[in-house]
Parts: sequence; structure tokens; C-alpha cells
Amino acid sequence: MRRIYPGSITSYSQFGHLKVPKSVKAVCPECRKKVDFVLKSTYQSSKHGLMTESSCPSCKHSAPFIIIMKEREEHPDVYIYDPKTMTHPLNQIEQLPRIPEELVRAYKSAVNVHQSKENSATAVLAKRVIENILKHFLSEQGRGLTLEQQFKVLPEHIDLVKPVSSLSPLLASDGALHQMLELEMDLDDEMAELIMDLLEDLIQYLFVLPGKIEITHNLIEKKLD
Ligand SMILES: [Zn+2]
Repeated sequence: MRRIYPGSITSYSQFGHLKVPKSVKAVCPECRKKVDFVLKSTYQSSKHGLMTESSCPSCKHSAPFIIIMKEREEHPDVYIYDPKTMTHPLNQIEQLPRIPEELVRAYKSAVNVHQSKENSATAVLAKRVIENILKHFLSEQGRGLTLEQQFKVLPEHIDLVKPVSSLSPLLASDGALHQMLELEMDLDDEMAELIMDLLEDLIQYLFVLPGKIEITHNLIEKKLD
């Protein structure tokens, strides 16, 4: 699911006493072009909201939309079903540059065998995924080292700071982004969305992922106790 912010909703229609989005600007889940979706007025309604669909004017792909109504709030939450932006890494890795094919294959197989509850096969493939991750960053320098030794030297081979430090020039005081944040310059819907994406990325990278790794690490240790 991908959230569609109120700024990208271009028109509303009245549905009972509710204001329901009628057309929205969004990236098509299929062709990835930014298009105007006109939502069908044949809603399926439930206690929590509405479900409908809309065809991409560019590729004709029919995309499901979910509209969640909230009490005492004018704008409902609107989502488009986009499997490629779902949080499961399997849906994300293929879109990213620089991920070795072998690693993607190993991870996909690990997910598959885990789903069919084959625990020994899960262990075998989990090890292959870990080895592939280490091989990607350590290449020849990991040769002959145990997994423990490889993990120990791994941080020397990854620049974990770069994704954050490279943002510094983007926020230069005389730069356009800084001026937009200071309201000295207008930003359009697309820029507002990109800024929201950046906030999400930063929070994921700095808080969510390190926190999740720590929690999983602790749970594994507790289980092994
Ligand atoms: Zn499309």
C-alpha cells in the first residue's frame, strides 16, 4: 500500500455526507508513470471505508484504491495498492541498483522454503543469503574467514555514513531545498511528496532499521539461552 497525500488528490465527490476523492495524481504501480487516476464511483463500502479501482490512462492497468474514513477528520486516508512499494524486502530489492542477482535469488528461495515451513531448507538458504551479503561487501578479502570473522570486518567495507552525509549539500543555506523548507520558495505536489519520502527514508535508516535489528538480535539471544 502506498499512501496518497491530500496534496495529490485533485478533486472530490460527495458520497452521502462524506467527501470522497474522485481523481488523484499518483505513480502507476504498473508502468511507474505519474498519471491522473479517476476513481470509479462503484465503491465497495465497509465499516472502515471504501474500496474502489481506477485504470491507468497510460497503460490501462487497473489499480485498487482504499479509502479509510476517520471520525472528525475532513480528509480520509487514501491508499493505492502497489505491491512494488510494500515493505517486504522481496518487493523492494529488485528495484534497487547494485544488488547482486545471486543474492536476490538466494533470498527469494529462502522466503519460499520458509513459507512452506521447511526449516532445514530455510537454514541452508539463510546461510547462503548471509554468505552472499558478506561476499558482496568483502569480495576477495572475506575468503577463508569464518562468518564471525567476516561480520567483524564488515563495517570496514560498508560506508554506512554516506547516505546521510551526502544529504548535507542538498540542504545548503542558499540551495533551493533549503529555501522551500523556509517557505522562501514554492514547492509543487511532486516536491512535497519527495520531501515526505526523504523523511520516511531518514526515519527508516536512522531509527526503524537499527531498532528492528536490535530487537531481533535480542530475541534470538533470548531464544538461544
Ligand atoms: Zn500505468
